[in-house]
Amino acid sequence: MKVDYLITGAGLFGAVFAQKAHESGKSVLVLERRNHIAGNIYTKNEDGIDVHIYGAHIFHTSERKIWDYVNRYAEFNNYINSPVAIYKDELYNLPFNMNTFSRMWGIKTPAEAKDIIASQIKDLNIKEPKNLEEQALSLVGQDVYEKLIKGYTQKQWGRECTKLPAFIIKRLPLRFTYDNNYFNDRFQGIPVDGYTAMVEKMLEGVQVVTGVDYADVKAMGKLPDGTPLEWDKLIYTGAIDEYFDYSLGALEYRSIRFEMERLEEENYQGNAVVNYTASDVPYTRVIEHKHFNFGKQSFTIISKEYSAAWEKGTEPYYPVNNDENNDLYERYKALASSEENVIFGGRLGSYKYYDMDKVIGEALKLSDEELGENV
Ligand code: UDP
Repeated sequence: MKVDYLITGAGLFGAVFAQKAHESGKSVLVLERRNHIAGNIYTKNEDGIDVHIYGAHIFHTSERKIWDYVNRYAEFNNYINSPVAIYKDELYNLPFNMNTFSRMWGIKTPAEAKDIIASQIKDLNIKEPKNLEEQALSLVGQDVYEKLIKGYTQKQWGRECTKLPAFIIKRLPLRFTYDNNYFNDRFQGIPVDGYTAMVEKMLEGVQVVTGVDYADVKAMGKLPDGTPLEWDKLIYTGAIDEYFDYSLGALEYRSIRFEMERLEEENYQGNAVVNYTASDVPYTRVIEHKHFNFGKQSFTIISKEYSAAWEKGTEPYYPVNNDENNDLYERYKALASSEENVIFGGRLGSYKYYDMDKVIGEALKLSDEELGENV
């Protein structure tokens, strides 16, 4: 078999690229190491509840083109993410907004909240935040930092907030309005039939082989069933350091261990996402999957997320984009650019803390460059 594009990884980047290439009449084969498609947005339907097996995914974007694109492959519901945070016996709304400040300080107006934050940071004299701690303190003051950010972030990233880049916390909106929407984007929702069905539809007409490792296929020059395989171009969506056999050293990732439970009760926590921000609770958050799709089942499914350092053999989820890792990535990227007929992409291939819409944006851009614009 000979294909124009061999795509390794049936996650969002691979699926979008495959869809575009197929649409332009190219021959495409997708290889996926896991025994299912959709990468980390894979959802599995358990008696009517779409379980986000590799962690919660809420689609949000401000780009009309990307929203239109995903709506070709799935119908989205009107879910709005509004997590709550539990710190000891206190409960707060997220993201940081007037509901949070009102509960924290017993105040009502934006001016009161701003005054309190200003008084808490006046002695710190932070001009240009150099790390996540300084960034968080300068935005929301000491109380919110101590109760809602410090413990959570240290659990999530396995290091002090002073050792983390500021951009991580800039992902979260900060508002002086009573608005619990976790995202600022214009469009938001979750596919009513789950993400797996969406990716399946993107891959319609494309050959996909699951449960096969690209490294094995490359080494053997054939598929596990013995079919010899050749390709013109490789689209590689796995970890970039793995592609080069960690020759310059390993990039750091964070992994997550999920503890999933089915409970014979209708409504366990009243919300899809509850963050546990105190450092003495070992997990970072509890997801109750049915609430992503307004489920009315008599039972429920929850998963507790335990953050962990990534090691070989576990799943890499989050790139740790501090200076050291970014420098190493740049060196891998230089190697990648001299690799002929290979395109790297996606969260792992680009070593970026991408949201889903950014992955799609990257895939559409690269496929346009490669195939000629034909959206
Ligand atoms: N964060 C926090 N407290 C929270 C939620 C988030 O301090 O209750 C910080 C934390 O540093 C986290 C970052 O914000 O890593 C980004 O959170 P987000 O919810 O965007 O992370 P993701 O959903 O990608 O895991």
